[in-house]
Order: sequence, then C-alpha cells, then structure tokens
Amino acid sequence: MKKGITKREDDFSRWYTDVILGAHLADYSPVKGCMVIRPRGYALWEKMQSSLDRMFKETGHENAYFPLLIPESFLEKEAEHVEGFAPECAVVTHGGGKELEEPLVIRPTSETIIWAMFKKWIMSYRDLPLLINQWCNVLRWEMRTRLFLRTTEFLWQEGHTAHAKAEEAEEEALLMLKVYQTFAEEYAAIPVIPGKKSDREKFAGALHTYTIEALMQDGKALQAGTSHNLGQNFAKAFDVTYQDQHGEQQWVYATSWGMSTRMIGALVMTHGDDQGLVVPPRLAPLSVVFIPIFKGKEGHGEILDYIDKIAATLDGDISCRVDAREGYTPGWKFNEWERAGVPIRVEVGPRDLQRGEVVAVRRDTGEKMNLPKEGLREKVSGLLENIQSSLYERALRFREENTVRVDDYRNFKDIIADKGGFLWAYWCGGAECEGFVKQETMATIRCIPLESEGEDGACVRCGKTSSERVYFAKAY
Ligand SMILES: [Zn+2]
Repeated sequence: MKKGITKREDDFSRWYTDVILGAHLADYSPVKGCMVIRPRGYALWEKMQSSLDRMFKETGHENAYFPLLIPESFLEKEAEHVEGFAPECAVVTHGGGKELEEPLVIRPTSETIIWAMFKKWIMSYRDLPLLINQWCNVLRWEMRTRLFLRTTEFLWQEGHTAHAKAEEAEEEALLMLKVYQTFAEEYAAIPVIPGKKSDREKFAGALHTYTIEALMQDGKALQAGTSHNLGQNFAKAFDVTYQDQHGEQQWVYATSWGMSTRMIGALVMTHGDDQGLVVPPRLAPLSVVFIPIFKGKEGHGEILDYIDKIAATLDGDISCRVDAREGYTPGWKFNEWERAGVPIRVEVGPRDLQRGEVVAVRRDTGEKMNLPKEGLREKVSGLLENIQSSLYERALRFREENTVRVDDYRNFKDIIADKGGFLWAYWCGGAECEGFVKQETMATIRCIPLESEGEDGACVRCGKTSSERVYFAKAY
C-alpha cells in the first residue's frame, strides 16, 4: 500500500474501503457493482462456509444445487415475491444468438425454482420434512454498491425446507436463527440481537422473518442473517401438497434462510481498527505469522531453522506461515500482516535464538510478550482463545455502551442524528409510525426482540400503548 489507512474517526466509510483493499480481501471489478474476492477474502469465506456447513449438516440438512436461470413466469407465481424482487432482477432475453421464447431471470434467490422441484419430490408425509441447503451466487441489480455489504452479485447459502405442520416450519425458522446466532457470536465474535422483522421489513413472500442484528463501530446496524417462515405461500403458488396419514391432501409449509458474504463486511466493521483488519482466530485462515529479524548478513540460516522447528510444533491445529521473503524489512512485514488481521505475529531475532525464546505480538491489543519456545504450542493456543473471547467482549461492551432506552421522540431524533446506535423504544405496532420515523430520521425497526421485558409503555412516536420495546437504528 502506497498510502495508509484512513482513521475511523476521520471517515468511517473510507476507512472501511481502505481496510478491505489493504488486507487484499477484495477488489473492484471491471463490471460495475460487482467485486472480485481475492484469495485472502475467499479463504475467510471458506472458513465461514465450513463452520456453517458443519452446523447445517448437524441439524439434518443436505446440500444440493439448483440452476442459476429461472423462468420469468416462476417469479410471477407468488405475488409479494415478484413485487419485492422484480425491480432488482437481471433478465436473460437472448441465448445462442436467438431471442428466447421465455425470458430467464438470473436468480435473486431460489425459492421459486426450488418449489417447482419440491412439487415433483413431495408426494406423501413420508417425504417430509425435506431439508435442503444450497451454496451459490445470486444477483440483485443494485444502484449503490459497497464491497461485501451490497454488491450486484454475491455469494451466500440459502436453506429451503418443507414441512407437514405449521409448528414444524416455525421451529425450523427459529432453529436456523439460533444457528446463525451461534455462528455470529462464537465464530465471528459478533454479538447479535435475535428478533423478528416488522411487516414492512420482512422478506417478500414470507409470513414472517427472523433476523440477527449487529451493531457496527460507526453506530449503524447490520442485518447479519435472516430466517423466514414462509407459511404455505410458496406451496400454494407452486401447488405443492402431500398426502397425510389419513389419505388427505394437505398444503406443505416452508422456510428459507440465508447468510452471505456480507458477513465479511460485518466482521471488518466490528473488529477492524486504524491499522487494518482484525480477524477472530476461529475464522482466521492464518493464525500465526513468523517473521525473522536478521541483524547483519550472518546467521540467517540459523534463525530460519529455529523458526521452522518451532513452526512445525504448532502447525496442524494452528495454521502458520513463515514470512522469509527477502527484500522487505521486518517493519514492512509487520505492517503487511497487521493490515491482513493475522491474530498473532511471532518475531525471532538472534537474541531470541540465544535465549530459546520468541516474541509474540497480539493483533487485537498490540501487546508484546516474550515466550519460551518450550510449550509454545499451548501458550499460542491459549492466546488464540483469549483473543477470540476478548474480541467478543469488546464488541459486546461497545454495543451495550451504544444501546439507549429512549422514551421521548425529540430525544430519539437527537441521538439518531448524533451518535446513532441501537435505540430501544416502545412502538405501537403501526406501519404509519414506523414509516414516519424512517422518513424523518432514516432509522428503521431492526427487530422486535424475541425476549421482551413484558412491561407496557407509550409508542415513542404516537404515544399509543405498546406492549414491548423494539430496536431502532440506521442500518447498512
Ligand atoms: Zn405509534
């Protein structure tokens, strides 16, 4: 990098872009609105994928793959769904040099093509539940794009399940929300608030949508994953029924749920600092980088041998890399790996070699420590666990400090305009109040939390009685 990273307090948005470009996570593509995910960004996505994929399989789901192209008529079968997605669809009208008889939509999400297939696969109650997940790309035409947060094409997983009973679909939607929460908190070290979306914010075609909401360092919220109870809407649109135990035909119940590469943006904005990216150890493609410190022209081989032996004792569970590149100063390398967010840097110079030690530096706090080479593996793995939990604690503290109970609308407007954060306020449940607040302050209802205090209050906007507080925030 020729220039440094913009400071967060100077320009958070510039800082965000600088961190991503500086860490080599992604780059702008020749196609407007799209991005190129570079190897370091893709390795991070692969770590996310493997953790999520394991949890999906542990909860009984199987992976499958459906086509990228969907007949346009499929989308039109579910009224709310087409209304929600049509404006952002890309449509293929020509193929093989000819105009197509029916235009094909590039999937913005796959409910329609999957339910067209479920109609063929679901006959009887014995075929249920059907629990499918797909890892793929989707495309939604976006006017204003940001790396990872909003790009025309992005990678994600979409789960699609079919159930015999309404309660089972509801249980599934909540189970997957829990999986997302576990992933966000235990792997990405991002504290989230699980809740339900208001009708205005729910998925197009869903009965209701559950979400996990996180707070970024600039005081804006980010929706990190959603899970939808689709009721019978898609079953009815695609005529999917099953024969129950009594020989009667019944409509099937559905859910869908998704998490995307947007999570990388959430990770950057939750943990990053003015030096660059900070990756929680459980998702770090590289946990430890060794940097030799040469003094003069002699003894390079000895130091490198020493490092190789130590690295060999770590490698296996702890991914390591020795940066022995020539032509770069140690300071340049420190900077490079700091920007890339590697959790621990280990420096080894002639004096460390004599003492049988290394110098370890934590990426999250910058703390330096001398560690003996004996028992380094245990020390390093303890340190990684400590970094993981302190990142979570730090993010949680930030969220708590930036979550305010608000009962007065003028106060509400001041806080939103000033420092942002989550505003925990009573809402009457009316779409009118919700729309009014959004128009006036740009804050939306992020979620109606799953757990409420159960005390009545007055809607922050209209004063009508309300039974629970909801979270408002400006959002990405
Ligand atoms: Zn109201």
